[in-house]
Amino acid sequence: MDFTLSSDQEELRRAARDLAQAEFAPRAERWDRDATLLPDEQRRRLGELGYLGLTLPEEYGGSHTPLLHALLVIEEFAKACPAAAFAIFEACVGAARVIELLGTPEQRERWLPAVVAGDGTMAVAISEPDAGSAATDLQTEARVDGDELVLNGSKRWCSGAGHSELYLVYCRLSDERGASGIGAVLVEKGSPGLSFGPRQVHMGFRSVAHADIFFDDCRVPADHVIVPAGGFKRLFSAFSIERLGNATMSLAIAQAALDRSAAYVVEREQFGRPIADFQAIQLALADMVMRTEAARLLIWRAASNAGTGYPVTLETSVAKCYANETARDVAALAMELHGGYGYSPEYPIERMLRDSYGWLVAGGTPTMQRIRIVSEFLGRRVSQRG
Ligand SMILES: Cc1cc2nc3c(=O)[nH]c(=O)nc-3n(C[C@H](O)[C@H](O)[C@H](O)COP(=O)(O)OP(=O)(O)OC[C@H]3O[C@@H](n4cnc5c(N)ncnc54)[C@H](O)[C@@H]3O)c2cc1C
Repeated sequence: MDFTLSSDQEELRRAARDLAQAEFAPRAERWDRDATLLPDEQRRRLGELGYLGLTLPEEYGGSHTPLLHALLVIEEFAKACPAAAFAIFEACVGAARVIELLGTPEQRERWLPAVVAGDGTMAVAISEPDAGSAATDLQTEARVDGDELVLNGSKRWCSGAGHSELYLVYCRLSDERGASGIGAVLVEKGSPGLSFGPRQVHMGFRSVAHADIFFDDCRVPADHVIVPAGGFKRLFSAFSIERLGNATMSLAIAQAALDRSAAYVVEREQFGRPIADFQAIQLALADMVMRTEAARLLIWRAASNAGTGYPVTLETSVAKCYANETARDVAALAMELHGGYGYSPEYPIERMLRDSYGWLVAGGTPTMQRIRIVSEFLGRRVSQRG
């Protein structure tokens, strides 16, 4: 087993780090404080440089590299600037990959070039007010009416809602209950009957748009069905790709909090000595190093085994759960090591802790990942229903 990155991967990682640190890091804290979305021209620039098409096919402008390449880039951007990293995350591991893997050639041709160029973003809308962890309880439905689909229902928590041009909407496409009736439809912003609530700014993810989404007899052409009823399992297999992107955003938080802490403890003096001289500080740092390294290896294993295809569910849930909790725990330790400065918005540590909770809930909570891990490990479905 070889854990060395190839020269291509190292070069990609170095170029991403240089750009992210030089151009995006200086803006990251202001964008977070002011809840500023990544400006469109910056997103297009990322597109021109090839960062938005890393995993998407060449015929649509991408470079179709394996998932690990994109995750290396996402980590470098996420350490510097969550807003820029989120654009790469959305394009390289988000709903666009579902179109690539499960859509028709016409659908790919129609929607992927804009994502690769940064002219449009694509969000995924699964969660609803009464269907979060129990995603198969979702109620939003799409009924065929002639050569159109008519959608009714609402979505909550969708990252990008109100701002994105394209929405991959999980919905009921048949009368069958549970997962069997669920598929996915692509809804373009501006479709009649589609509306958004006011922008919501949460505890973290402040550079990402959130709003409730409403479908009131929302009409889209019938050929916007990406996955028909019965395709929920396939949709969630593809969603594992996004979960590894999520895990990588968490990994970046842990690594950045660790790097900041390492620099801080050798510089900060108390009792006439750098605090790094105290054994209790060393033990905390050691835990941060171990957790961060382990999270990276779990993500790299899952991504490496996925190549340009689907990740293994067990490996994905193990990596996501572990990385999410690592980001939270390492950011919390970093805050302690920084004393009062950790709590101050003048330092990025408090932002990292806030964001770590967002990644932990988004894409399925650690509890739900544990349930999935056990079900995969035992090879037997662990039903949560009474
Ligand atoms: C920052 C952020 C970004 C998001 N982005 C998106 C997005 O882009 N698209 C989208 O569709 N959704 C998105 N979500 C929604 C996210 O996927 C859901 O919030 C998540 O799946 C949890 O659902 P819920 O909030 O309804 O909580 P609930 O499902 O109500 O869970 C509440 C608590 O109960 C626990 N729980 C639930 N069921 C069980 C069980 N069987 N056993 C034990 N404990 C259980 C959960 O672990 C949790 O602790 C986002 C959320 C956040 C916070």
